[in-house]
Amino acid sequence: MAKINITRFCIECGKKTDKLINGLCIECYLKANKPLAKIDSTYSIRICPQCYSYRSRGRWIKTGSLMEAINNYLEENIRHELSKKGIKVEDFKLENIQRMRKGRIRCLIRVVAKIHPKLNPIEDRREIIVVPKWTLCENCLKAKSGYYEATIQIRAENRRISEEERILIENKIEEIVSKGIVRPEAITEIEELNEGINLKLTSYREALKISKLLSKEFLASIKETYSTIGFRGGRERRKITILVKLPSFKVGDIVEYKGGTYKIMNIYHEKIYAYNLEDHKMIVLSQSERNRIKPVSYTRRYGMIISAKDNLVQVMLMDNYQIIELDLRRRPDWLKEGINVEVFMVKDKLYIARGL
Ligand SMILES: [Zn+2]
Ligand SMILES: [Zn+2]
Repeated sequence: MAKINITRFCIECGKKTDKLINGLCIECYLKANKPLAKIDSTYSIRICPQCYSYRSRGRWIKTGSLMEAINNYLEENIRHELSKKGIKVEDFKLENIQRMRKGRIRCLIRVVAKIHPKLNPIEDRREIIVVPKWTLCENCLKAKSGYYEATIQIRAENRRISEEERILIENKIEEIVSKGIVRPEAITEIEELNEGINLKLTSYREALKISKLLSKEFLASIKETYSTIGFRGGRERRKITILVKLPSFKVGDIVEYKGGTYKIMNIYHEKIYAYNLEDHKMIVLSQSERNRIKPVSYTRRYGMIISAKDNLVQVMLMDNYQIIELDLRRRPDWLKEGINVEVFMVKDKLYIARGL
């Protein structure tokens, strides 16, 4: 008796198999149906800066932290989105969050989901972007109705705050809150402006705590101004503005200090780490030297050392392969053939520093 053999093929990879779904073998089907490929890449979430409630499908839901608010919002909405496409999420996890420019948050999510009733659940990971929209929830709005006592204005001297600094500052504020130094409900608003960041607080004492910690971390100066907003029970009520001003220079800048030319390597714990571009030595300066450090204009190019002998080095510039020769005052040990360097032009003079 002859057995009838019908050979079936996967229409994608051509593999011979009897197990086909919509004409695809299981591997190709899974590849073509990654569950998280079917969701949005950006989510805008309304979060209350006081109580970390988030707004989802017409209601405010209370949580204990930003991470929890994002997690719960995403879980609820991604489960919902996928179930409409016939995908059942069995496990959801927010694995990592990372702050980005303009207050955006990059989230790594992981799901285990059943994409087809005949198949075992599969795991999938994806990065998505969350844009928090800081808005007071109904309860907090009622409780405060516009009331705040102090505003912190975070700015930089003679320049705008960079995106990198913005991220560092926001991380620091979050750290201060998560350590319990300042109550999260004391902050009623975080305003992102082109020139910097404004924080509104219901408590002057807590505003001052944040300002002092920011000043310590970022070498900022603090200045307070008052305005009378009325009287209550015969006592004057004042609104306080604390201006937290970052230095005119930031990490990576080229500056002049006591006649020398330096690259700012780090600003950390009330100290400035500056690299002398002439003798290639690092100096550590205290906060009191802040006003003697002046940023200078410069151009930065990248190059590679192609020869180094005594104090003479030849650098090939990466953008046009031009070779330039520098006679250094001192050649540090690391400055050898094959090393990547940054080449700075400051007032018609060339300097090099170690590149990445
Ligand atoms: Zn296949
Ligand atoms: Zn709230």
